[in-house]
Amino acid sequence: MTGAFSLAGKTALVTGANAGLGRGMAVALAAAGADIVAVGRRAPDETEAAVAALGRRFVFVAADLAAPRAAAGIVADALRAFESVDVLVNNAGIIRRQDAVAFDEPDWDEVLDVNLKSVFFLSQAVARRLIEQRRPGKIINVASMLSFQGGVRVASYTASKSGVAGLTKLLANEWAPHRINVNAIAPGYFVTDNTTALRADAKRNAEILSRIPAGRWGEPADLAGAAVFLASPASDYVHGVILPVDGGWLAR
Ligand code: NAP
Repeated sequence: MTGAFSLAGKTALVTGANAGLGRGMAVALAAAGADIVAVGRRAPDETEAAVAALGRRFVFVAADLAAPRAAAGIVADALRAFESVDVLVNNAGIIRRQDAVAFDEPDWDEVLDVNLKSVFFLSQAVARRLIEQRRPGKIINVASMLSFQGGVRVASYTASKSGVAGLTKLLANEWAPHRINVNAIAPGYFVTDNTTALRADAKRNAEILSRIPAGRWGEPADLAGAAVFLASPASDYVHGVILPVDGGWLAR
């Protein structure tokens, strides 16, 4: 890839890159020229093979993002392998389903820690280093339809993803003067482990499909264009946007 959408010479750190949307975005960024640092709990072998097949370098940093204090160590590990972290994709996320009246504290805390607290502290660790290095950078958060809508039975997830939308705008405001763009992608309904329960429920599956104008669930590759755009110089004047990639769900 050439020109404004090229990521040649850039290093992208992607959390939760062993599966689903994270794997899709890591491979898309590598295809656009970026080397990849994958952060997560399990070795992302398939992602590593796909990135290597594209001729890009790949490093795995093992970390549990439920412990956000890991953030500084994750960035230090990445910087032992690469000169800088130019792109951060805060993708790792979890969901817990329960009626609001029965929702318990562990299901609240765990989701908020992984989906929101780790997003802030990892962004902070990356931005501190970029500012020190006087380098431009791109931070891409993964939001959700529940950054815009309420949902049902997913109290902590909705709180976390609404928080991600607000945090994206706050960080965009603070870091735009440093040439760091902070934006988010809001995926609609995608085929991943995260949505297995929804797709297995015939009634919910039919309800969801019936209001997606595109008429199908998203596939991880459907995020490639948005991820490369927000990681590349093509989006240098784009700050604080929550970009839906949803087959038209929100337009309905
Ligand atoms: P997924 O297939 O379940 O992948 C989630 C990723 O997050 C996995 O790599 C997982 O690693 C990682 N992760 C979870 N907890 C972690 C922890 N404590 N420390 C480190 N890594 C952790 O789900 P997905 O659908 O691709 O989700 C990716 C992102 O997209 C999430 O933020 C999700 O909320 C968001 N999203 C998804 C959809 C959708 O329709 N699928 C829609 C909107 C937003 P492990 O394998 O170790 O668990």
